[in-house]
Amino acid sequence: MFEKSSWIRLPRNVVVGHGVLSETTAAIDELHLHGTPLLVTSPTPNEVAGQRVADQFEDAGWGVETVVIEEASFESVQRVIDVANEVNPGYLVGVGGGKAIDIAKMASDEIGRGFVSIPTAASHDGIVSGRGSVPEEDTRHSVAAEPPLAVVADTEIIADAPWELTTAGCADIISNYTAVEDWRLAQRLQNVEFHEYAATLAEMTAEMLVDNADTIRPGLEESSWVVVKALVSSGVAMSIADSSRPASGAEHLFSHQLDRIAPGAALHGHQVGVGSIITEYLHGGDWRGIRDALATIGAPTTADELGIDAETVVEALTTAHEIRDRYTILGNGMSRAAAYEAAETTKVI
Ligand SMILES: [Zn+2]
Repeated sequence: MFEKSSWIRLPRNVVVGHGVLSETTAAIDELHLHGTPLLVTSPTPNEVAGQRVADQFEDAGWGVETVVIEEASFESVQRVIDVANEVNPGYLVGVGGGKAIDIAKMASDEIGRGFVSIPTAASHDGIVSGRGSVPEEDTRHSVAAEPPLAVVADTEIIADAPWELTTAGCADIISNYTAVEDWRLAQRLQNVEFHEYAATLAEMTAEMLVDNADTIRPGLEESSWVVVKALVSSGVAMSIADSSRPASGAEHLFSHQLDRIAPGAALHGHQVGVGSIITEYLHGGDWRGIRDALATIGAPTTADELGIDAETVVEALTTAHEIRDRYTILGNGMSRAAAYEAAETTKVI
């Protein structure tokens, strides 16, 4: 008897384009949500978008409560939960780069309400997925929550964000190549469940970005458009797989480990990009192609550019496999000699 079943949960309304922030209430109205929205944002995103969204909610007669968080931490998540317990919101709205959105999604998962994602930067694929994490002491607290009910990505606002956030988003997408290779390897060696459609979508997304790498330029709103669309389709790939596997392999383990050893050294996307050069080398693939694509976009390709030293890279490479139970090309771990060899050959160190 065939008893397999699966759920695919996707965002319902994904609105991308110039000036679409003004369509936020329309995008939410269609979802038939009830109750007061609880807006979760951080200081700068609040200035560039949060207050305008709050005004729209007021104008629509929905009312609004706002929490401004300063940092990505478990305390921030708890603060949002506390406010939510007081005001009993119908849903949460995250307005920000990665931070406020991650916190909104984690709090919404905790209190059992949906959330709407309004990214003000295209810095990583978490803006569209249900996956999020915040640092908690020397580890990270992660959730695999539902994806956002709606995504409103205004490219006019996103194009104005610091350029390095966009190159980080690009690098996060380029890392899909090695993530999918790790996923295939895990399927072959460990019988990990694999979804061909999700894997193909994730790879195709990375390919689309690499093919357009020379058109991705600071100050061009069209670049933001290309990157946001790629982040959306990466998020959809994760939703279809019901796993972060299509967009997260050993290069992400490497980055998470850097977050522990050298907190705040570089942006998530930049770290996974450099990790991807090394893990592509380990897969015996076209690591030069990945390095060239990152360089063309203006994302870091070396430890120096990440602001970390050689020893930190080697330590992260040799310990990354311990982070979580996710089989990758790192297998049971790299030796120090092998880590040096890989990082030197790829000119990361
Ligand atoms: Zn990522």
